[in-house]
Amino acid sequence: MDDNNLILAIQKNGRLTEETISFLKQSGLEFEISNQRLYSYCNNFPLRIIYIRDDDIPFYIKSGVVDLGIVGQNILYESNSSAKCVIKLNFGFCSLSIAVSKKATINNLKQLKNTRIATSYPNSTNAYFRKKNIPVRVITVKGSVEITPVLGISDAIVDLVSTGRTLELNDLRVIEKIYDSQAVVIANEISSFPIYKKIFAKKLLNRFRKVLSKN
Ligand code: ATP
Ligand code: ZN
Repeated sequence: MDDNNLILAIQKNGRLTEETISFLKQSGLEFEISNQRLYSYCNNFPLRIIYIRDDDIPFYIKSGVVDLGIVGQNILYESNSSAKCVIKLNFGFCSLSIAVSKKATINNLKQLKNTRIATSYPNSTNAYFRKKNIPVRVITVKGSVEITPVLGISDAIVDLVSTGRTLELNDLRVIEKIYDSQAVVIANEISSFPIYKKIFAKKLLNRFRKVLSKN
């Protein structure tokens, strides 16, 4: 991809995909999407859109092979990447929260001292408990975190919550929120982009801002 086009990475297949594509179309960008193809060319803007797993987007930005990305803030916080949040997009709202079994006697943070906490967000979780000065043992799992208290391998979980339905279905309740999250545009320092890319990145971000000001 050694042309002058800007490269924007978005989630290939997940909760943010539909709203991200709809947002890009509202911004006036014309592009075709095919299930097999991992990238699209924009017909009316010097932009390529690549479709990848959300977790990989901060790394691609850090490496400089991708200019801009759209991810949840949770992915950015967890990645410790140098990428910065440029625009908040007003969709993909959720929060990273601490939950325990409805039957558990744990009701506050202090009671989590020396407990086992399962999560797919070990960096955010460790940072939070370190700041609160509460020692815990963080167990990293890739998915289905909600099952771990039932299996007896964790005392609490840290996971993304939006409606709370998944927690409810698994007899869990939230005791504390770590942070709020929404979809954002992320990028490296735009002022250090090559001139051609800088001009078009600014134009693109202005289009995004315009859509947001209308909604
Ligand atoms: P990928 O295959 O791309 O790695 P994923 O399984 O990690 O996908 P999704 O479940 O598709 O991720 O969620 C994508 C993003 O949607 C999350 O990172 C978060 O920012 C946002 N989101 C909004 N609500 C929720 C929710 N209830 N649970 C999980 N993520 C949510
Ligand atoms: Zn992911």
